[in-house]
Amino acid sequence: MPEFYPWHQSHWNSLMASQIAKRMPHAILLMGPEGMGKRSFASNLIQALSCEYPQKGGHGCGSCAGCRLQLAGSHPDNLTLFPREGKQTISVNQIRQLHSHLALKARQSLFKTVIIYPAEEMTLSAANSLLKILEEPPGRTVLLLITSASLRLPITIRSRCQQLFFTISKSQEVKMWLQQRLPPSMNLDAVTLLRLSGGGPLRALEYVEQNFLFYRKEFINNLFSLTQGKLDLFEMVRSCLKDNLGEPLYWISTLVEDTIRLRSGVSKRFLVNHDVANSLQLLARRASFEMLFALLKKASCNREIWKGQININPQLLLEEILIQWLICFSKVNHEHT
Ligand SMILES: [Zn+2]
Repeated sequence: MPEFYPWHQSHWNSLMASQIAKRMPHAILLMGPEGMGKRSFASNLIQALSCEYPQKGGHGCGSCAGCRLQLAGSHPDNLTLFPREGKQTISVNQIRQLHSHLALKARQSLFKTVIIYPAEEMTLSAANSLLKILEEPPGRTVLLLITSASLRLPITIRSRCQQLFFTISKSQEVKMWLQQRLPPSMNLDAVTLLRLSGGGPLRALEYVEQNFLFYRKEFINNLFSLTQGKLDLFEMVRSCLKDNLGEPLYWISTLVEDTIRLRSGVSKRFLVNHDVANSLQLLARRASFEMLFALLKKASCNREIWKGQININPQLLLEEILIQWLICFSKVNHEHT
């Protein structure tokens, strides 16, 4: 069975109440940062809707025919749409397939269900085709659109869905859940980890498992050496994780955001990158707001390019942002520790 996380409970309760009242929304948009377990939530919901003998709290039993088909990924009433192999987008042909799926009556369960993930990767014509379904939804249908970049979805789509926000919460239950899963040897608390990874608890855990904290430290050290003229640009680029450029670009964005905060007089304790606050304070004195915002825009833009396309040249994206970083901060004689 897909994992059910404690921070899913309130959204779950409200949907189960709708289900009991026979008012299940026909389209639900699951939105929020990565690492919140939105796909698990969607799978659990579909499991619940396919189950013949729902358990306490509305959860699927895991053993009836509906649940077994669902767990095997072969339930005839569920369709999952995601970018086809080698493709980045969800095409209009896939949405046409959805039209035919919905034209048939449910065979096994009460509802026909659909998952679209990542929903923001639908092409414009795919989104327009989906809109026709959302405007006149067939009965007993539940469409689940999952996204961590909801603003990239047309507002016409967003406004026709019930919106469920999965927000990063630093509530006691989230902190405890994460803390219990961190290696005891790790000298880091859950809140700092959530802050550094910029996502939900699952993302934070991935940060630990994939050793991103170590890479981050190394990257930032190299970045400061580069700024001081102690490291060559090409050496820096070579040392970076070229196959996972998303992280270095994210780190640069947070460093620039922190520098902007410091330049605006925000206290160091509100920074994402606490550990290098002193070095950032020195950088903050050297660049104008205009330059900082231009650098931040470039970092976000290159991150979008990195996320959204295949066959791009990561070296070029990284060199470009590092050169702009140097224009912003070079000649800084800071004391990075
Ligand atoms: Zn069941």
